[in-house]
Amino acid sequence: MKPPDAGTPLVRYPWVVVRLRCHVCPRNADVRLAALAARYGHRVPVRSVLHGFMGGCPWNPHTELRKPQKYGHRCGAYLPDVGSGRPPDLPPTMSGLTLIEGGKADMLPAEPAPARRRVGGEDE
Ligand SMILES: [Zn+2]
Repeated sequence: MKPPDAGTPLVRYPWVVVRLRCHVCPRNADVRLAALAARYGHRVPVRSVLHGFMGGCPWNPHTELRKPQKYGHRCGAYLPDVGSGRPPDLPPTMSGLTLIEGGKADMLPAEPAPARRRVGGEDE
C-alpha cells in the first residue's frame, strides 16, 4: 500500500484517525476520518485539513490579521502519519483481541468473596 501524502484525498486516506501535530504550539488533534469527510467533503486532500488546523494556531501563516514577519514564528503544523506506512494507534476496539499467555487453565475457580468485616465497629 502506498503511504498517503499531503495530497491524498480523504476518501483514500487509509486510516481511521487523522493525527495533527504542531512543532511550535502545544495544539494537537486526533480527528476521525469520517468526521473530517463530513465537514470538508471526502474529496479534499488531507492538506486542507492541515490548513484548517493551522487556522486555530497563534502562528498561523495564512491569517490576514498578522502581517508576514520575516523572522517570525510560523505554525509548524504537520501530519505525522503522512509519508509513513505505519498506521497511527488504532482505537482499542479496532485493534482486536490480544492473546494472553496462560488462559483458562490458569484461572482460579470462583471463590466466595471474603467475609466482610466492619471496620471500627466493635460495638455491636
Ligand atoms: Zn501551530
